[in-house]
Amino acid sequence: MYDDVSCRDKSGILYLVVPCYNEEDALSDSAQKMKDKIQRLIAGGNISSKSKIMLVNDGSKDNTWKIIHSLCKEDTIYCGLSFSRNYGHQSAILAGMMAARNYADMIVTIDADLQQDIEALDRFIKCYNEGCEIVYGVRNDRDTDGFFKKASATLFYKFMKLLGCHVLANHADYRLLSKKALDALAEYKEVNLFLRGLIPTMGFQSDVVYFDVKERELGKSKYTLKKMMTLAVDGVTSMSTRPIQIITLLGFLVSLFSAIMIIYCIWDWFSGHNVPGYTTTMVVSLLMGGLTIFSLGIVGEYVGKIYLEAKARPRYIIESFVWKESEIENGENV
Ligand code: UDP
Ligand code: MG
Repeated sequence: MYDDVSCRDKSGILYLVVPCYNEEDALSDSAQKMKDKIQRLIAGGNISSKSKIMLVNDGSKDNTWKIIHSLCKEDTIYCGLSFSRNYGHQSAILAGMMAARNYADMIVTIDADLQQDIEALDRFIKCYNEGCEIVYGVRNDRDTDGFFKKASATLFYKFMKLLGCHVLANHADYRLLSKKALDALAEYKEVNLFLRGLIPTMGFQSDVVYFDVKERELGKSKYTLKKMMTLAVDGVTSMSTRPIQIITLLGFLVSLFSAIMIIYCIWDWFSGHNVPGYTTTMVVSLLMGGLTIFSLGIVGEYVGKIYLEAKARPRYIIESFVWKESEIENGENV
């Protein structure tokens, strides 16, 4: 098979994957805007006329699914799927992408409130046509966020960097993935999902598209504080076992300190300065403290390894494969 992106079909099939959770206020309006944009892209010959908008209902409690259902009935440009309950933004995106994988050449994930500038789609597609398998949407600024969201996001990105995770700052889930990248993503079976951290670890040729974020026009933010915290904890725990290594290091340092203190206490005992029983108490508690934290770290290291094994991430991803039948095998020289 020869893999040559210069032969890429310039009007590939695009699926816009849209997670929707209690979006009855915003959906009708944004679905229309999405349709207009997709139709303009089709008319301009940028994407195939088979392109679609995939609306994923993440167990909404309002009329979101009813709206999706009637949109799909009215116009074949829409398609939809619905969860049995609320599984969260990341799962909704993943489900949409995996459902679209069999039909699309590329997908773009975008929020239902269209806070992300849909006009940036042209640049995403341009990068794809130039050979990128992944295109990350990065917001120009965080002016539309409140103080708490801005501060917590900055802190989170700094903390992730400290833990050695390569998360692109200010990139949420507005991104393009080619069919090849989607197939690679399908190999990851983990349940604890943090796509923003996971996708950059896959490699592939990628690029960045900058866009402006608008205020949410209709409906309220669905990211409650609890959901934000869960995402942050998922982000750290799914991408890094470094917190465990920090415990091991702490255990080692406490043990080292204990060893020094034990020597000091014994020296004190020999010089006869101390209160009776003091040396024994100190030596026993220091020894136990150091050993306990250190042992916890060692057990943690193994738990971390089991965790990584349990994830069963692919050990490698093959991007291209070149193979040509020899002429004899081909029967041409016979
Ligand atoms: N969303 C979802 N499941 C959830 C929470 C949010 O599918 O449990 C969707 C939501 O409908 C929207 C996107 O995720 O399409 C981003 O949510 P939102 O706009 O409320 O977040 P914010 O922009 O305030 O961070
Ligand atoms: Mg939003």
